[in-house]
Amino acid sequence: MIECDDCLGGFHLGCLKPPLRKVPDGEWICGFCERRRKGEVLEMPRPPEGKKLRRTAKEKLLSSDLWAARIERLWKEPDGSFWMRCRWYMIPEETAVGRQPHNLRRELYRTNHSSDIEMESVIRHCSVLNPKEFSEANNEGDDVFYCEYEYDVRWHSFKRIADINDDDDEEENNGRTEKDEEWKISKDTGCETDDDSENEDVAAESTSCKHPTHELAANSRKGRAFGLHKIGIKKIPEHVRRHNQTELEKAKATLLLATLPKSLPCRNKEMDEITSFIKGAICDEQCFGRCLYIHGVPGTGKTMSVLAVMRSLRSEVDAGRMKPYCFVEINGLKLASPENIYKVIYEALTGNRVGWKKALNCLNERFSDGNRVGKNQPCVLLIDELDLLLTRNQSVLYNVLDWPTKPRSNLIIIGIANTMDLPEKLLPRISSRMGIQRLCFGPYNYHQLQEIISTRLKGIDAFQDQAIEFASRKVAAMSGDARRALEICRRAAELADYRLKHSPTSSCSMNASSKGKCSVGMPDIEAAIQEVFQAPHIQIMKTCSRLCKILLVAMVHELYRSGVAEITFEKLATTVFSLCSSNREPVPGWDNLLKVGCKLGECRIILCEEGVKRRLQKLQLNFPSDDVAFALKDCPELPWLSKYL
Ligand code: ATP
Ligand code: MG
Repeated sequence: MIECDDCLGGFHLGCLKPPLRKVPDGEWICGFCERRRKGEVLEMPRPPEGKKLRRTAKEKLLSSDLWAARIERLWKEPDGSFWMRCRWYMIPEETAVGRQPHNLRRELYRTNHSSDIEMESVIRHCSVLNPKEFSEANNEGDDVFYCEYEYDVRWHSFKRIADINDDDDEEENNGRTEKDEEWKISKDTGCETDDDSENEDVAAESTSCKHPTHELAANSRKGRAFGLHKIGIKKIPEHVRRHNQTELEKAKATLLLATLPKSLPCRNKEMDEITSFIKGAICDEQCFGRCLYIHGVPGTGKTMSVLAVMRSLRSEVDAGRMKPYCFVEINGLKLASPENIYKVIYEALTGNRVGWKKALNCLNERFSDGNRVGKNQPCVLLIDELDLLLTRNQSVLYNVLDWPTKPRSNLIIIGIANTMDLPEKLLPRISSRMGIQRLCFGPYNYHQLQEIISTRLKGIDAFQDQAIEFASRKVAAMSGDARRALEICRRAAELADYRLKHSPTSSCSMNASSKGKCSVGMPDIEAAIQEVFQAPHIQIMKTCSRLCKILLVAMVHELYRSGVAEITFEKLATTVFSLCSSNREPVPGWDNLLKVGCKLGECRIILCEEGVKRRLQKLQLNFPSDDVAFALKDCPELPWLSKYL
């Protein structure tokens, strides 16, 4: 038999007129659908008289009378009933944008909405396949569905599942990361990460969404498992489960940059401003020309603050206190080219992947006529590392920043970058759109850094107060970067942990440390600072030749000036010549400069494109600019360098 890709009706190959010998490759549409597409009014064949018309599970599912879900956890309640945590799938009609022309008939979206329901509501197994599996599916039966995207039911945005899995892999490689959901929801004691391949897709009747007993009834209580173990999960050995972390181990874990802090001290004012900007823009019916530019040096909590605001607004939307809106988050660093932003935005809004030119046209249409797609829901677009969208003719920034100015676009843009004067560097027609509302995240002073570190370490007795103060003062004097301060403290905790575990009186020290009596002191912080700031690349910068130093400073100077990380060799040479001549330094020849550039490229202090482009070869610093500033600020042989850092 063959199935029509439009109405999903089944046909015998031999009964078709003309009959088909084999199933054709690609899409096949039945004669009825073909004629209907041409506009003919058709009467579909009636089922034989006397037979009761019965709808299949697939038909019910595709008309929202049944739901597909993916079982993520199973357990047995004390009363003997079996329960499961399931994650729902949705049909395209149930999303905010509705069914779109590119949707397949059997397409489902995996959502981020989970419920705990009784196993009795499960009717039967169905297969939800990824695009590759779906294209290779053969004789899989009727309950087979296609799923390529995850749909965020709160933000009404789409994300390709393959990308989500990539991100998860990255996070796993980077160590333990707390997920978005865990910010608000307390973690079950027995809930370890699930093995994807073991999860089951089932068709279930939508019964109760949340059961009051589920918090109590997880299959592990107070660290002891009972009843069913989760399917596909290896039992964690008791000695690992029971391992009591020492104070230092707790400190190391909480100071990891990947750990989401429970609160963001010292940024209340900024977060209030962002909240009122978004609320104002969403409530304003016209939603005209809304754009907020956030700037500040690295590690000042810009990204974290915006994301924290979005989380708290999400709970207001959930509680019905705010109009729903969709949220799309983009990081310039993750785009292969600035133009790709159109593709990414379009994909997030519609779950459809097209080339960037087509995406640009569709977005232009959407934002100039707000009613077309998305039921005119407001959309908040966060563009982190906005400066990376800068192109030679600035067209990407122009196009993106032009959308919110359209009367019915309902678009709100929040742009984040490091450079304060990015709007001024842009063409006037762009800066007039971007530079109206700005918010500056200043570097943290030592009091603030101290508060940030102490808040993170609340309840963990691992650090002496002077040690935290010392680290905060050091970082505040250099950059005011919370990321650096946290890194230094975490490294100090590691050093202290190592010292304790390897000291001759190791066992008694461990007892002491677990009681919290042994703390990270000033010498550990001092050693960590030495390590962070005496890193090999900083040593190289400090000890390299005069011309190398001038070249590095010229790169930083250009970076500050243009806001763009890459610079051509030609432009860099011009800057070096002008720095040298205005500071009475002998102006180097092109060949010398090239030699120095190659040397820095060889030791990966800078990254170089391949040399065939000659003067147009692009160069970029491989380390943060403040490392160059730290290494060369007080250079005795070239004191004038500090003017440019
Ligand atoms: P960049 O410009 O490099 O992107 P950023 O300003 O976006 O930096 P974030 O990524 O928001 O900085 O923060 C860097 C790190 O510092 C994060 O790990 C965050 O947890 C921590 N951090 C920054 N500010 C605070 C704060 N006020 N409280 C707690 N942690 C903070
Ligand atoms: Mg950031």
